[in-house]
Amino acid sequence: MDPKRALTRLSTRITRYADTVSGSQPLLSWDDVAGALPKDPLQSLMIRVKWAGESQFWQDLLWWALQELWPKHWGTQDPRRAQRMMELVVRDWIDPGICHRCGGHEIDGRTVLRTRDKKHPFRTCPTCQGTGIRRARSGRDVAKHIGIDEKTWRDTWRDRFTHMEATLNSLESKALKELEKNLNDKEQT
Ligand SMILES: [Zn+2]
Repeated sequence: MDPKRALTRLSTRITRYADTVSGSQPLLSWDDVAGALPKDPLQSLMIRVKWAGESQFWQDLLWWALQELWPKHWGTQDPRRAQRMMELVVRDWIDPGICHRCGGHEIDGRTVLRTRDKKHPFRTCPTCQGTGIRRARSGRDVAKHIGIDEKTWRDTWRDRFTHMEATLNSLESKALKELEKNLNDKEQT
């Protein structure tokens, strides 16, 4: 069972369902999927928020990410600074790059927005210019959000930001692998 597919069980809370792709898969319940989540609380929260859309756990996720992933030697006098940076990293990881304005909605190879004009009901999304790709945050924006100047961002924090993104991505693949393994074990018993 594809772990991402299995995770839709958590968001819809349907108690049993047949996997429509193969037709022969055993039934999986909400409890099965919840029980197959990684034991590590951070990893479990990561996939619940990102893949099961359980945004009620957003604050928990941030808290755990700060506890587990923020290196002590990155010390910052202002704890809110760490919090704000972690927030940005996690947001970008959850939604890696789809234009917020059009949501990547595509017609004839270009992303579009609806208009009120009946003759031309769609127009190319001006924010991403039809690509659907969210523009990377500028260094200035990130620095401002975190509460540091641009030079400090470039000298110190930009690399840390990238490092943190990489950490989240590798934890995510670990978590999904564990979920998949646990689901397979369940199917065999
Ligand atoms: Zn767009």
